[in-house]
Amino acid sequence: MKKIMVIATGGTIVGTGAIGKSKLYEAGQIDIDQIIGTIGNVNDLARVEAIQLFNVDSNDLSLDNWIELKNVVNEVASRPDINGIVITHGTDTLDETAFFLNLVCETSKPVVITGAMRPATATSPDGPMNLYQAIALASSDQAIGMGVVAVFSNTIYSSRDIQKENNFKTDAFSKRDFGCLGYMLDEKPYLFSKTYKRHTYTSEFPRLRLDKLPKVGISYFYVGAPADDLVKIAQNKDGMVIVGSGTGNYSKEWIVAIEDLIGQGKVIVRASRVNNGMVFENIHFDPSNRSISANTLTGPKARVLLMLALSLTRDIDEIKRIFGEY
Ligand code: ASP
Repeated sequence: MKKIMVIATGGTIVGTGAIGKSKLYEAGQIDIDQIIGTIGNVNDLARVEAIQLFNVDSNDLSLDNWIELKNVVNEVASRPDINGIVITHGTDTLDETAFFLNLVCETSKPVVITGAMRPATATSPDGPMNLYQAIALASSDQAIGMGVVAVFSNTIYSSRDIQKENNFKTDAFSKRDFGCLGYMLDEKPYLFSKTYKRHTYTSEFPRLRLDKLPKVGISYFYVGAPADDLVKIAQNKDGMVIVGSGTGNYSKEWIVAIEDLIGQGKVIVRASRVNNGMVFENIHFDPSNRSISANTLTGPKARVLLMLALSLTRDIDEIKRIFGEY
């Protein structure tokens, strides 16, 4: 029988509150062992061990927590007795952590991330079923070499493309254009697609000694957005992600301010506030052709990739290559 390690970080899956209610609760309150204990048939799937690494609301995670988490995942994945890993996590920032791990974990073993929308004390909490299916997927040979994937509400998602789209329903995540890899029915995975992008054991980032990540900020464009705000946020940053309108667009005032920031050596990535589609190179919004297009990455995910890219290089052409490959 396979052995699966559950690495718990907190979130609503271990949240508690008023009995029967799904609002007014606190995330990260009880140990994941208590949730595993409620899944009657979990031992039919695998031998399960658990590490309670953190127990926080995922909004309270820090970049240092991310580095610690990736070290633990890499350490556990190198153990010959472990066949797969499940990470439990709050749903608010699950998309960011999943993508970070997808880029920095050097393993072809299954790594599956999950969480819950309802706390453990709600009527019909979704956590036990999500965790059950995540353990089932992590035990499946079909998940080998897939990179970090997420399981939520009977759906298997790519960590690169998953995004939270509903803030209270149990089916909270969206596939965007490319995110759905398959479905789960009870313990059985039905996988239909695989990502073409580099990840985990094919990524160049696991070899980095990451003690600290470069500083990258995000600025969101809207009608009348003052360029001064963008300049202020960029002040102490190595790079910036601009979440523009349409295909990564913004006002003439922002074009001038961004050219100036590039002149100061800041690395700029153009992303979009539109959920689907792609940000291409665009000489109108990037007259000197020195910014990088986020392609299909959301703003927060473009930030993750830019932090890692800047840990390797400051060469713009190299960073453009990286944004094309991941
Ligand atoms: N605020 C919670 C968290 O991200 C939400 C959740 O887990 O659903 O930790």
